[in-house]
Amino acid sequence: MSEIDEQVISGLTVSIDRDLCVGFGDCIDLGGDGDVFEFDEEGIAVFRDRAGLPEIDQEAFLDACRACPVDAIVVLDGDGEQVAP
Ligand code: SF4
Repeated sequence: MSEIDEQVISGLTVSIDRDLCVGFGDCIDLGGDGDVFEFDEEGIAVFRDRAGLPEIDQEAFLDACRACPVDAIVVLDGDGEQVAP
């Protein structure tokens, strides 16, 4: 069974399939000013604590999600439409 982390960020429902993630870090490097993801102690992507941080740049954030080489990050918009990958 997959280990899925899910959060709603700026109206987008974002999930990370942590079993798929291989720790390339593209989503972290390309996060723009989003700063949504970070590595845990195992080198797998997790959500960063965004308390007090400004709203994300949605386009930069989606580009970062789409850059995942194994499509471990799935983003749905407010209508439930998949916008990444
Ligand atoms: S880009 Fe994908 S594989 Fe790389 S760290 Fe992020 S979620 Fe994991």
